[in-house]
Amino acid sequence: VDKSSQRLTIAIQKSGRLSTESIALLQACGFRFSLHEARLLAHSSNQPVDLLRVRDDDIPGLVMDGVVDLGLVGENVLDEVRLERKATNISYDFTRLRALEFGQCRLSIAVPKEDNYQGLADLQGKRIATTYPYLLQNYLQQQGISASNAILTGSVEVAPRAGLADAICDLVSTGATLEANGLIEKEVIFRSQAQLIQRPGSLPAAKQAIVDQLLPRIDGVQMAKESKYIMLHAPVAQLEQVVQLLPGAERPTVLPLSHTEELVAVHVVSTETLFWETMEQLKAIGCSSILVLPIEKMMG
Ligand code: ATP
Ligand code: MG
Repeated sequence: VDKSSQRLTIAIQKSGRLSTESIALLQACGFRFSLHEARLLAHSSNQPVDLLRVRDDDIPGLVMDGVVDLGLVGENVLDEVRLERKATNISYDFTRLRALEFGQCRLSIAVPKEDNYQGLADLQGKRIATTYPYLLQNYLQQQGISASNAILTGSVEVAPRAGLADAICDLVSTGATLEANGLIEKEVIFRSQAQLIQRPGSLPAAKQAIVDQLLPRIDGVQMAKESKYIMLHAPVAQLEQVVQLLPGAERPTVLPLSHTEELVAVHVVSTETLFWETMEQLKAIGCSSILVLPIEKMMG
């Protein structure tokens, strides 16, 4: 067996909206990398893992062609490539391992503000500028609308003003870019977040072992992000009420406090955000010293 084939290769976006969080996630899972700006490939110093840093558009194809083992990519790009390959008879097999909690955005249709847009039917026979022709056509087809594409790889938002299209279909997060270009969001056609995908076919045992270790770690990192460790002093008489107020807290740890019989310390891991309102309610029923701490890692 070729030694290099034992190293698990993971494709991530080199520089862009997914890069920082992709690397942060892998590091939180225990992989160490030294990243040199210019390098395409980064070796992990503590695991047989290599990072391949490429444009996000290339990631689904690299995974589907089995060139890399895993990829972290936005679902929008993944689905666009999948539809494109399906339409052009290129294999589009892959396994979705995890939805990752970053890279959230939506793909939307926007029209010039001054248009009196009433609904999708208004787009019949129109031209829509987009970077996502397959996702767009897939959606329009489902809605029974036929419109043509103006395929652009960038600056989609200026297309209507430039007379290239009647509407656009582009990624939106805040809507500020649309606003600045006199456009208004009308239809959300796709909601996206980053995904972890694996190439088709089975992996060699050594690589599979790394993936088997990675997935629970990803779950642990994602769970920890939302969870909090809560500590407080509570009146013994109010213990039931206190537990009911704490979100996602089933079995709190209750500890005695020195020099008092009326108060106990309550420690609990909460799987949800603890809001100020809840803390105020806790205080109102006699709790004190309420601490909410972030959790770095979790394992069930
Ligand atoms: P590349 O050079 O790698 O091709 P890009 O310009 O195509 O980069 P980015 O703008 O960095 O891509 O976005 C990468 C991905 O991040 C998007 O495909 C999408 O999944 C996700 N994303 C998250 N938030 C946003 C947003 N506000 N706008 C655009 N994309 C977003
Ligand atoms: Mg791209």
